[in-house]
Amino acid sequence: MKADPAAQRRLLDLAEVDAELARVLHRRRTMPELAEITEAEKTVRAKSDALVAIQIQLDDLDREVAKQEKEIDAVRAREDRDRKLLAGGTLNSKQLTDMEHELATLERRQSVLEDDLLELMERREAIDMDGKHAGVELAKAQETLAEATGRRDENLADLDTNQARREAERAKLIPTLPADLLAFYERRRAQRGIGASLLRARRCGACRIEIDTREMSRIRETPADEVVECQECGAILVRTPESGL
Ligand SMILES: [Zn+2]
Repeated sequence: MKADPAAQRRLLDLAEVDAELARVLHRRRTMPELAEITEAEKTVRAKSDALVAIQIQLDDLDREVAKQEKEIDAVRAREDRDRKLLAGGTLNSKQLTDMEHELATLERRQSVLEDDLLELMERREAIDMDGKHAGVELAKAQETLAEATGRRDENLADLDTNQARREAERAKLIPTLPADLLAFYERRRAQRGIGASLLRARRCGACRIEIDTREMSRIRETPADEVVECQECGAILVRTPESGL
């Protein structure tokens, strides 16, 4: 593969742009905010489920309270009716005794029902407190999620800007490179991730492996317009005065 040494050197600019594009892609996939968001979404779901469960308990209790109140009202209405009959003076003594007995029973029943109602109300109050606490927890979790999402979006905007700039640089570089050299570079980049690197101080810039003396002398003797590849990683080795040849 032959290529003008100046064109070979321009490959280094392209490799730098491609490395930056690869970093952008890597950062898009691995930015810590992504894991934070997944975690925060999980927390929001859990807190929201907890709140719904409490709301269901409260609804159940409200129904029980309403039932209990209705029953108390019914007992009270019966007591009122009985008291009226007692006061009416139309009952004989047997009926009076029965009525007094029934009233006493109703009063005991009412007292039990009222105690139960009080207990229900206390339970409701405790669960209502749990609900308020769960609501605060949910709001906190939602805030954490929104905060992480905001940071992710900021990062994405930065990455978009960076990527657009690099892509513009790349679009400018491409027409300056011979098509066959570019295709050669792209094949290596597709296989190894890095298409070309600078040979500097006897090391390949892509794999950082030191090149042995025999290979160095072979490279030294290779004409400048001949494309040299790293024997270790396959990247195009671009020679410049920094190469130490
Ligand atoms: Zn290498």
